[in-house]
Amino acid sequence: MERRKVGILGATGTVGQRFIQLLESHPWFEITWLAASERSAGKRYADACRWKLDTPMPARIAEMVLQPNTPAANTEEVPRIIFAALDSDVAKELEPAFAEAGCAVISNSSAFRMTEDVPLVIPEVNADHLPLLLQQTSVKNGKGGYIVTNPNCCAIGLVLALAPLQERFGIEAMFVSTMQAVSGAGYPGVPSLDILGNVVPFIKNEEEKLQEEVNKLLGSFNGAAIDMLPAKVSAHCNRVAVIDGHTECVSIKFTKPATREEILAAWSEFQPLTQHHLPSAPEHPVIFNEAIDRPQPRLDVNAGKGMSTTVGRLRECSLFDWKFVLLSHNTVRGAAGAAVLNAEVLAKMDLLPGQIKHTQTGAGRELVSA
Ligand code: NAP
Repeated sequence: MERRKVGILGATGTVGQRFIQLLESHPWFEITWLAASERSAGKRYADACRWKLDTPMPARIAEMVLQPNTPAANTEEVPRIIFAALDSDVAKELEPAFAEAGCAVISNSSAFRMTEDVPLVIPEVNADHLPLLLQQTSVKNGKGGYIVTNPNCCAIGLVLALAPLQERFGIEAMFVSTMQAVSGAGYPGVPSLDILGNVVPFIKNEEEKLQEEVNKLLGSFNGAAIDMLPAKVSAHCNRVAVIDGHTECVSIKFTKPATREEILAAWSEFQPLTQHHLPSAPEHPVIFNEAIDRPQPRLDVNAGKGMSTTVGRLRECSLFDWKFVLLSHNTVRGAAGAAVLNAEVLAKMDLLPGQIKHTQTGAGRELVSA
């Protein structure tokens, strides 16, 4: 199968580097275009990027030249699938421009996650929300571009663990307290003098994002919009001196009673994507670790090649019903890996640009997937 050409916006950053690592030998996608800020445009990737991953920078990528961060500069060369790893203020400006130029913008930033016609998706949880993208103006006007987002890096791991529980027992209320790795703040991120030997009990806008995104992700698509899950969610977000991996302590109240065995069964039987054979989908999206002192970032962050959430310490909660601890990789499952999996599902659902078919019926234009 010929690989589809893809580009990366924000290619030099923390998430951009993960995109390169995950996509360089991807069976469906081929990186043909890279861009970052105006400061980097025109430079060789190797000269513009401070590579921080523990695998070498791919030699082919090192020689690529960073392009201007606009689709207008050389439209011919801009691929129609763009993975975006931009800060949200930059994303607000650039992502719609690329969508308007006909690109599928598969975004990591928070800029459009809560926008009504933008799908916020974790494929194992709510791939059925993706057809919402057909309502975006740039799709309706025939250009075929759109924005699809993946959630905040804490919301992804959390909602993977919650989705099978919501399906079987319903979630009425949830309290979550996070311990978030420094790589979640990008590079150079939190100054070492602030974080070494310390905990910072504040991450700007993080609690708000986590609270609202959980209810959109676990909501249902009614054919026109997302009906939010009406669960009460309260989050405390903290930055800790861990390099990769966000740990979250969760207390949860269900609408129906659940036993320990039923909860464990809900997690272990949660394999919604298995039959689709997607290259980045983990075999087990949620892995329960029975050890009394797990999960731990240093030991469990790479479970399922960084794409699984590890849960542990399931026990009764004296305030709510049950409590547990979870861990997920913030730059793999929480960012680049999540976006790559979104692209794989879009391809499988025939929703990439070029796959979406336009048909004319009656007075209006109707869009159907091929
Ligand atoms: P980062 O390390 O600070 O990287 C930012 C990237 O954006 C760099 O490539 C930078 O290029 C580029 N950039 C800056 N200004 C630009 C402009 N005007 N036009 C085009 N590119 C520009 O940040 P990050 O951690 O990768 O985060 C990127 C996004 O992903 C953010 O929205 C973040 O919230 C989200 N996210 C991050 C994580 C995580 O764990 N880190 C997880 C989930 C989501 P230069 O090198 O040229 O400056």
